Amino acid sequence: MDYFRTHTEINLEAIRRNAETIKVSTGKQLIAVVKANAYGHGVVPVTKALQGIADMFAVATIEEGVALRQAGICDPILVLFSSLPEQAAHIVAQGLTPTISNWEFADKLNEAVSKIVSVHVNINTGMNRYGVHWTEAAQFLNRLKTLDRLVVKGLFTHLATADEADKSYVSVQLKRFASVLEEIPNSGSLVHAANSAATLTVPEAYFDAVRPGLSLYGVYPTAERLITLAPALTWKARIGWIGSLSESEGVSYGLTYKAPRQTRVAMVQVGYGDGYPRTLSNVGEVLMGGARRPIIGRVCMDVSVVRLESTDNVSIGDEVVLIGKQGKAEITVDELAHRAGTISYEILTQIGTRVPRIFKH
Ligand SMILES: *Cc1c(COP(=O)(O)O)cnc(C)c1O
Repeated sequence: MDYFRTHTEINLEAIRRNAETIKVSTGKQLIAVVKANAYGHGVVPVTKALQGIADMFAVATIEEGVALRQAGICDPILVLFSSLPEQAAHIVAQGLTPTISNWEFADKLNEAVSKIVSVHVNINTGMNRYGVHWTEAAQFLNRLKTLDRLVVKGLFTHLATADEADKSYVSVQLKRFASVLEEIPNSGSLVHAANSAATLTVPEAYFDAVRPGLSLYGVYPTAERLITLAPALTWKARIGWIGSLSESEGVSYGLTYKAPRQTRVAMVQVGYGDGYPRTLSNVGEVLMGGARRPIIGRVCMDVSVVRLESTDNVSIGDEVVLIGKQGKAEITVDELAHRAGTISYEILTQIGTRVPRIFKH
């Protein structure tokens, strides 16, 4: 680890504990969402760590599912988003569970396979990005029965506003979903709706299984903290250079920060090429020597510059914490996201391929 200019440390035990906590507190099956490289945490080690706890895994794309199969993972894997008709044969050959959200794909899938294939159907109750419209869902599900090789093993919907304090639209969506379920009694399908926000705050959305992503990684989507989760990711970088600016001298591209007086600075080896947001220019903070220090000037592709106090006793190679704890100080993903003008999801999924992930068991 001493070798890396920047790296993340992933606590797989924290992810396992978060998953177990969610299972115990909800009492439901767990569909663990590991899309986008397990929210940047490293999809294969994370998925392996969750085997035996998660009842099913969910990814966004076929390619993500194939990567898990190639890593020898044989658990059920749901592909959450719609696939194209051209991909029907491939999805089945890989033993992935497709999501049906329109007739064309269902028909093509039925044609492409020679054996029975399990599918989940996404019902659009108001997220309005994909899925079978709730007013047409019962009829659609009846029509699906004419496709003799497809078996509907799951029915789900997705909530648009579960992370907001006002749960009124969540109720609207759940009522629409319930009306579909009433029209198709005893379907035998696994019914699921709860993303992290609903898993943590809306028990009415649990049904048979919960479907969280973010919270598995110990990050909360809402201000509510009813279940205790542990963050799993720490992001570090090393000091690459220490220098000093004389009064009124500028720093980094555009010289957007001007030293008000003689100022010691440290270059930290992380930049937007690693996924460290450029919007942290002149507003980010890092931890070094157990204290907060500000980013000054523009974040570059490969490095950033931090202002030191004259008393700081730091050296080239010292560890800087971008996300996580150092001594008593802590920078959370949420704080970083807030400063960068985005959300924790984006920060985590943008941590680049140039940043090695070190796994702690
Ligand atoms: C990403 C995603 C989830 C997980 O959402 P979180 O907010 O990370 O818990 C669940 N379901 C669907 C359909 C998704 O796209």
